[in-house]
Amino acid sequence: MTDAPVILWFRRDLRLADQPMLAAAVASGRPLLPLFILDLETEALGAAAKWRLGLAVDEFARSLARIGLQLTLRRGSALAVLRALQVETGAGGVWWSRLYDPAAVARDTVVKAALKGQGLEARSFAGHLLHEPWDVATGAGGFYRVYTPFWRAVRARDIAAPAPAVRAARGVVDWPASDRLQEWRLGAAMQRGAAVVARHVRVGEAAAADRLAGFLDGPVAAYAEARNLPGVEGTSRLSENLTYGEIGVRSIWHAGMRAMHEGRAGAETFLREIVWREFAYHLIHHSPEIATRNWKPEWDGFPWRADNPDAEAWRRGMTGEPFVDAAMREMYVTGTMHNRGRMIVASYLTKHLMTDWRVGLRWFEDCLTDWDPAANAMGWQWAAGSGPDAAPYFRVFNPETQAEKFDPDAGYRRRFIAELTPDPGPDARAFFAAVPRSWQLDAQLPYPSPRVALAEGRARALAAYGARNS
Ligand code: FAD
Repeated sequence: MTDAPVILWFRRDLRLADQPMLAAAVASGRPLLPLFILDLETEALGAAAKWRLGLAVDEFARSLARIGLQLTLRRGSALAVLRALQVETGAGGVWWSRLYDPAAVARDTVVKAALKGQGLEARSFAGHLLHEPWDVATGAGGFYRVYTPFWRAVRARDIAAPAPAVRAARGVVDWPASDRLQEWRLGAAMQRGAAVVARHVRVGEAAAADRLAGFLDGPVAAYAEARNLPGVEGTSRLSENLTYGEIGVRSIWHAGMRAMHEGRAGAETFLREIVWREFAYHLIHHSPEIATRNWKPEWDGFPWRADNPDAEAWRRGMTGEPFVDAAMREMYVTGTMHNRGRMIVASYLTKHLMTDWRVGLRWFEDCLTDWDPAANAMGWQWAAGSGPDAAPYFRVFNPETQAEKFDPDAGYRRRFIAELTPDPGPDARAFFAAVPRSWQLDAQLPYPSPRVALAEGRARALAAYGARNS
């Protein structure tokens, strides 16, 4: 047995409970050295996610301090930082929780091989998902391409109970030098938007646990219907916390199961949504190209438009289509967007505006505080029609009929579009305080007329789709 310190390399697992890597590290009895690295992959995060990550790291450092550990912050390539810290501290190894998106996998594979090559221990743990993506397989041993059988397979498997929160840990005797988080300026690209979005985030493990408890005590009962209504606080909003690992998905699963067994309506529908996240990771693990290429290659010949002025109007929440603009502005003001909104704006961009889904995927990546590499890629390819188990291309969401159905009193549209009401509320006004000044948007300017007539946009998209098949 060695008493050499272990470097705990935290990434998207910023919590003390339901944390297999940390639980194993404490159980080992070895001195621990928690580390967060601002590496090239982290540098590349979108503006909102990077800013929100900074809040998560700050809060997590405080949690670690409460159990006797100090979070070391270092900047540079992950491997170089890990090697340097190992030499400085005499650490015997590096442990981390696994991630599954292509950029993280590429980095971690190199790190693992290099550390092992030096004779160091390099251990990775589960914890980000209910099951490892390779553990859920079809009868033939392949991966699932369709959600419903995947859901059934997950439902049929036992899911390990979450480990309790770590309460005390043994740290190294001499803490290494650390960067100061403020010096990293993780929020720089958010500019004045940070102050607006800050009103809508709930940071850290305790906030995430409160969110889950609050949701299961109340809104879950009506979730099956209310989850479709963007004007209603009907969903858990846990995506923001799941993204940074401020809550473990196994904890959510078991709490959801308890709610279901207690007869709370909506709990099973909620668990199904949690498994959509799982499905996204299953897909990105088995087909990493989902993040960059049409998942169905027959879409490669489709005449998507590259970035264009219509897409710019879409980004700015100025398409003249109120449901679309409300959702785009919701993202700018709150850092997230209701799922119904995401489906509508993605359909509108890829179909009515015939713009390549990757243009939208990148904008979401820049603006979402809950940006998730797997869910975002799956969501965009689903909406575009090019993905696995996707909405068929000919199913073109009509934003007006969608609004009649899912925002019948126009409350959501009024909440975010100042121009539609004589007395706009704080969120509608906040949009103009959050957007870049260079956009020169002003609530006093008239609301734009639609970029494209809905019937015309739909017909154009379907004609292109038909031509692709001929
Ligand atoms: P709830 O309704 O409370 O659901 C609970 C959890 O289930 C969510 O937190 C999430 O982890 C998971 N979930 C729910 N719906 C989905 C779904 N359709 N796909 C995958 N997981 C789901 N989700 C992200 O977390 N990050 C993204 O970057 C992201 N991009 C998307 C892009 C598009 C084009 C689309 C159509 C969907 C995207 N989603 C993304 C999925 C979904 O919109 C969000 O997970 C959901 O709106 C989060 O709100 P909530 O936490 O209140 O969800």
